Amino acid sequence: MIKLETKSVVLLHHHLKALRLPTIGAECEKVAKQAAADNADHLAYLLQLSELELLERERKAAERRLKAARFPTLKSLDSFDFAARPSVNKVMIAELERCEFIDRRENVLFVGNPGTGKTHLAISLAAAACSKGYRTRFIRVTELVTALIEARDERGLHGLRTRLSKLDLLVLDELGYVPASKIGAELLFDVISTAYERTSLVVTTNLPFESWTEVLGSERLTGATLDRLTHRCQIIETKGESYRLQDAKARVRRSKASGSEGGRDGASKPLEGGTAKG
Ligand code: ADP
Ligand code: MG
Repeated sequence: MIKLETKSVVLLHHHLKALRLPTIGAECEKVAKQAAADNADHLAYLLQLSELELLERERKAAERRLKAARFPTLKSLDSFDFAARPSVNKVMIAELERCEFIDRRENVLFVGNPGTGKTHLAISLAAAACSKGYRTRFIRVTELVTALIEARDERGLHGLRTRLSKLDLLVLDELGYVPASKIGAELLFDVISTAYERTSLVVTTNLPFESWTEVLGSERLTGATLDRLTHRCQIIETKGESYRLQDAKARVRRSKASGSEGGRDGASKPLEGGTAKG
C-alpha cells in the first residue's frame, strides 16, 4: 500500500469523521501497515476496515440496549442452579433464551414463592434478548405504576405509553405487590392490554391465579388482563422454598455432618433468606 502523505491522512480523518466512521478512522493506519506487510489487496483492506466498524457499532448498540433495559443486576442462566429448582425445565428455558417467543409476541409468566429465582430467570432471558438486538425494558410493577400515575398527573402519559409500545420485550417484575389505588391498577392493566400481541411480556409474580382478583381488585379488569396475559403464554412455576434458604440449610447440614463448629454460622443464614422479597 502506498503511504499517504500527512496532508492526505489529515483529510482522510476529516472525511471519515464527517461520514461517522470512527472505528475506520482509528484503525485505518494500523490496518494499512499490516495489509502492506501481508501483501493484501485494496478490497481485502477495505473489507477488514468495514468489518471492524460494523463490529464496534454492534458492540456499542448492545451496550446501549443493556443500559436502556435497566436491569437491577445482571444475571445469566449460567449461574442458575437448575438442580436446585426441579420444577423449572432447563430445556424449556434454553429454548426461551433463543427468543423466538418474542418474534411470536408470546408471553412468559414465572409464578412462585419469594426467593425461588423468578427475577433471576426473567433477567437472564431479557439480557439474552438484549444481546440478540431486541429492545428490552425491565421494571418492577410498583415502579411502573408510580411512573404511570406521575405521568398522568403531568400529562406525560402518552409519551410513556409510546416509549413502552416501542419495546420488543417488557419485563414486569413482582406483579402482585400492586397499588391499592384503582387508577393505578387500571393504568397497569392498560399497559398489559396494549402489549397484547405487540410486545412480549415476561411477568414474575408470587400470586397464584385464584388470588389475582382479590389482590388486584376489579373482577372484570383482572379477568380481562389475565386472559390477555395468559393467551399464548408459557407459565413456569418455580416451586419450592427460597433458594437462599435452601442453600443455607444445605450448608448447615454439611457443617453438622462434618461435626464442625461452623454450623452456628450457617444457622444464622435462614433469617436472611426469610427476608427475601418476592
Ligand atoms: P424471586 O424473584 O423468585 O423472589 P430471585 O430471582 O430474586 O427470586 O432469587 C433470589 C436470589 O437467589 C438471587 O440472588 C438469585 O440469583 C438467587 N437464586 C435463586 N434461585 C437460584 C438458582 N436456582 N440458582 C442460582 N441462584 C439462584
Ligand atoms: Mg423477584
